[in-house]
Amino acid sequence: MTAFQTLDDVDVKEKRVLVRVDLNVPMEHGEVTDDTRLKAIVPTIREIAKKEGKVILLAHFGRPKGKRDPKDSLMAVAGTLSRYIGKRVTFADDCIGGPAERAVGAMNEGDVVLLENTRYHPGEEKNDPAFAKALAKLGDIYVNDAFSAAHRAHASTEGVAHLLPSYAGRSMQAELDHLQKALGAPEHPLVAVVGGAKVSSKLELLGNLVRKVDALVIGGGMANTFLAARGTEVGKSLCEHDLLDTARDIEAKAKAAGCAIVLPVDAQVATAFSGDAPRRTVDIDAVGPDEMILDIGPKSVEAVSGVLETAKTLVWNGPFGAFEIEPFDAGTVAVARRAAELTKAGRLLSVAGGGDTVAALNHAEAAQDFSYVSTAGGAFLEWLEGKVLPGVEALRKH
Ligand code: AMP
Repeated sequence: MTAFQTLDDVDVKEKRVLVRVDLNVPMEHGEVTDDTRLKAIVPTIREIAKKEGKVILLAHFGRPKGKRDPKDSLMAVAGTLSRYIGKRVTFADDCIGGPAERAVGAMNEGDVVLLENTRYHPGEEKNDPAFAKALAKLGDIYVNDAFSAAHRAHASTEGVAHLLPSYAGRSMQAELDHLQKALGAPEHPLVAVVGGAKVSSKLELLGNLVRKVDALVIGGGMANTFLAARGTEVGKSLCEHDLLDTARDIEAKAKAAGCAIVLPVDAQVATAFSGDAPRRTVDIDAVGPDEMILDIGPKSVEAVSGVLETAKTLVWNGPFGAFEIEPFDAGTVAVARRAAELTKAGRLLSVAGGGDTVAALNHAEAAQDFSYVSTAGGAFLEWLEGKVLPGVEALRKH
């Protein structure tokens, strides 16, 4: 990775290092309920502290919309974070001005300070230059370790990067590295699996992928719209009938770009959106008028596995079926495990991410064997859409 400077390119000793992290963790009754984001930032914080830099953490929490709202204070996260990094985390109750400057001024090498929610200030989301300057004043260098917030051009994710020497943290670096391998400069054949509920939420993503991948496997509710566009009866299935022309358009673009579109050839159908409703496995042209498609069937699993067998690189977003309800998790679980096996055998580079995908791959117990699973929701999707992420662009070497 040469486009970005990393912690390998800077001596942090005795420097005040402003580190943008993602602490927007789910909390209930003051307790962190999912620690994925905390675990992700531990290596960067520990490394800077070990190299005797001063770690000053910048982050947002919730949506306080430019005002101080106690329910969005980061103070509640400081204690938990301190346990994860094995070091005391001092909390400053503002991210700029007196409280922040005093906390930073009192730091010794290797200390960690967490600054209060950046979104308490309207200048954060407006990317106000004066606010970015007030943040930059606190540090000698800037490290961004929050890929998941990089799709937003805010002061702490973008503005400040133009004011200080800027570097990618270890978690950001890993993310960029894998995204580059998966879609930037991939080994072909490159296959994308796109599932999930609706075509409408993934139009840009599909449009971008058909230009880049050799095969696009479409699953989930969105496959029904493509099937209907090809003239297949989908009964009561989730289907966006107003998007049939859009689906045909995507198929045409794929054809022109030499990208094969792979749709389900059979399905698990049921008469209601429930694990208890009468269900059966049918070929895709035999869905009854009262039935809905809730998962792909075994023939489709085989067909998709065959596509993966020939692939060198896989990008995955979205489940093949209503995986939250057994047995409609079966298709997603089977294909995820196949991809995990191929990855483990060294035959496939597999990168997955976005919202429900992480939950689906964890449910399949396959996530740990993928080459990389991104926990960034919006940023991962925007990257799949081919968009420029401002927080990443600002780190680029010029
Ligand atoms: P998304 O957030 O777009 O990735 O969509 C994920 C959701 O799509 C999950 O909650 C799945 O239950 C749902 N889903 C997947 N396949 C189907 C289907 N065939 N019918 C209805 N919902 C589905």
